[in-house]
Amino acid sequence: MSQTILVINCGSSSIKFAVVPEKTTLEIESKIPRFRRSGLAENLGTPEALLNIIDANGEKTSIAIPDADHQIALTHILKTLGDEQLIAIGHRVVHGGEKFIRAVQINTEVVSAIRDTIPLAPLHNPANLLGIETTLKLFDDLPQIAVFDTAFHQTMPPQAFRYAIPDDLYQHHRIRRYGFHGTSHAYVSQRTNHLLGSSNHGWISAHLGNGCSTCAVWQGKSLDTSMGLTPLEGLVMGTRSGNVDPSLHLHLVKTLGWSLDDIDQLLNKKSGLLGLSGVSNDMRTLSELAKTGHASAALAIDVFCYRLAQSVAAMSCALPRFTGIIFTGGIGENSAEIRAKTLALLPHFNFHLNDAKNQKMVRGAEGRVDQGNHKSDDQDNDQNDHQGRQIWVIPTDEEGQIAQETRGVLGL
Ligand code: ADP
Repeated sequence: MSQTILVINCGSSSIKFAVVPEKTTLEIESKIPRFRRSGLAENLGTPEALLNIIDANGEKTSIAIPDADHQIALTHILKTLGDEQLIAIGHRVVHGGEKFIRAVQINTEVVSAIRDTIPLAPLHNPANLLGIETTLKLFDDLPQIAVFDTAFHQTMPPQAFRYAIPDDLYQHHRIRRYGFHGTSHAYVSQRTNHLLGSSNHGWISAHLGNGCSTCAVWQGKSLDTSMGLTPLEGLVMGTRSGNVDPSLHLHLVKTLGWSLDDIDQLLNKKSGLLGLSGVSNDMRTLSELAKTGHASAALAIDVFCYRLAQSVAAMSCALPRFTGIIFTGGIGENSAEIRAKTLALLPHFNFHLNDAKNQKMVRGAEGRVDQGNHKSDDQDNDQNDHQGRQIWVIPTDEEGQIAQETRGVLGL
């Protein structure tokens, strides 16, 4: 009977879950296409509530659970465990503020500290707390661990995390850059270090999904990242604008009479790839459209890649030595076109993409796509490697990382 970790990512009307066995993808030597039991309960609290499950063979099933709340949905999810022994639950928590610099076992103080952080993540932390409170009720004898999206970035130095605004706003209101996607950046950089057999590297990881961010990781620690106080800062994303002139708010209020809610909707839901293209937030769709001559789809891709390349160049300032770049997330893992276009905008950085390898790297494949050889480089001198900087594609595994950190907290 294998001892598994249940990983839960709770939203206000949804629960994403995964059942992670003992050996995680971080440690295995080569990754083959794999499935783990996982799923999504959605539309909770409504007559359309539905539980979608993917079993260990990749088979999908959907079960209607009309009007189910989080507790009922979790009871259904438990039934999918079969005879596997659950030894702990790992919860994804979006914001840990400055208090949580690593994953922690949940107790009443931790719950109240997560509650204190709600002003920094008003949409996410209440939903994450709801998941924690429900599972604490259902499994009071099982250790439960909170794994924070922000924790990995708590190693950033002040020059990277402070905004140039009056000190008082930081000292009294904790307004600073926090960064997100920490579990993903941690996973892909650790995985790459594992494949190279050393953590003495400086990576820029680019997590490119619906949300997008870059992160500078030196010897396993985050030194800077593109997201800030909220996940809106930084790169162009599916529906989020990323960086805009901070005076845009004032301009829209004064000249167009917009409300703050209008502006919030604009920047979070109607901008990014969707706003620029006017048709879709989905990179696959835009890529197809651009090939048929759709000008605004092509522009959206150009802006996306240009801003990503700018961010890679900016992040390189954080690294004492720049070994290479790691692409991950739905776009980073699957789009050879976006990888090639972005790297072509960085001619001063000594990237030499291997086109054939790049084209082949899709659908869960991992590996190097530059012209160098895996494990062949002088690790102390990779900056000047004549073959150029390394370029990796590493499928992210946030659930696996949460399970790994959960085991780490419990000393398992
Ligand atoms: P999330 O951030 O919601 O987890 P994903 O990491 O799954 O999202 O990324 C979703 C993005 O990945 C979408 O823009 C989607 O179009 C893009 N994507 C997935 N497959 C491909 C592909 N083959 N080519 C280009 N983009 C892709």
